[in-house]
Amino acid sequence: MSVIRELVRPHVADVPAYVTARSEHSGGILLDANENAFGSPIADDDAELHRYPDPANRELRRAIAGRLRIEPSRLWLGNGSDAAIDLLVRTLTEPGAPVAIPSPSYGVYAQRIQAQAGSIREFRLDESFDLDSVAAREASLGAKLCILCSPNNPTGNLLSKERILDLLENIDGVLAVDEAYVEFAGESFSLAREAGGTGASERLVVIRTLSKAWGLAGARAGYLVGSTELVDAMDRVGLPYPLSALAAQAALEALECESVVDERIARISAERDRLREGLSGLGLRSLPSDANFVCFFVPDASRIQSRLAGRHGVVVRDRSRMPGLEGALRVTVGTPPENDAFLAALRQELSA
Ligand code: PMP
Repeated sequence: MSVIRELVRPHVADVPAYVTARSEHSGGILLDANENAFGSPIADDDAELHRYPDPANRELRRAIAGRLRIEPSRLWLGNGSDAAIDLLVRTLTEPGAPVAIPSPSYGVYAQRIQAQAGSIREFRLDESFDLDSVAAREASLGAKLCILCSPNNPTGNLLSKERILDLLENIDGVLAVDEAYVEFAGESFSLAREAGGTGASERLVVIRTLSKAWGLAGARAGYLVGSTELVDAMDRVGLPYPLSALAAQAALEALECESVVDERIARISAERDRLREGLSGLGLRSLPSDANFVCFFVPDASRIQSRLAGRHGVVVRDRSRMPGLEGALRVTVGTPPENDAFLAALRQELSA
């Protein structure tokens, strides 16, 4: 039996693929899908919103696969990377089965595992918030899934690629790497090709999004790169049409704007460094970041967070209750005036 077949929840093998009307026919006099032949009421319908979209999102699939130089069949596209995380957990996790996740990291992993009645096996990152290979291996023993986040939210650092690949060599299940912020670190840090190129490892999965560097959080578009067999199982567990026509159109248009996005990434990185200097000027420690946010430490985090919001209208995220992050707040890199407003408000609150 193939590795993935053994890892996917057993009943999924018997779940038939749902064949949508639009995967059978997409042209002609379309009287097969109970759509509204008179059109949508909201536009002149260039977007053909009265029709169901291409269920395989072939155009966007080709565009993303081309950019990443991976096989199109190794992509799952859907409604944000949270949807990919959720579907991956649902495809692999039986009630009670362990899933290994790092701590501190992105809260949605634990939340989705719990929603699936899985058992959370948390392991601590090391003192630099990099992967602790021994702890990760131990937590992953017998688990069908381990999820990592690189760059890690909320600390901002990349995990070492060598340690991730070493864990991959020694893992019983699927190793998923959430790369929501990787564009800010640089494409060379992505494992997308290792997960989706020719000769890719079946066990490796990469999850990416257009919500961050690509600026499309409102559109909800994310994707997963994994083995064709895993993507096929996810398609059967998930719903038909996981990505709306509007989101697919926005994603396709954004991918045409690579130079604008690259320029914004450069500006965000410069502002991130300026934010860290500003924090240091206020006598505050912050963590090095490869992402579009900075994790920093204050004496009384929840008080400062609520005062920044209440008195100055500057909203940052309190992360001080996470393990290893006592006193931590996380600030997203804003525009230069927003960052100035944040630093000025923080200066005032620290001296209050
Ligand atoms: N992964 C990480 C690490 C994130 O921080 C986020 C957003 N907060 C997501 C995934 C989800 O992104 P989206 O669903 O917008 O693609």
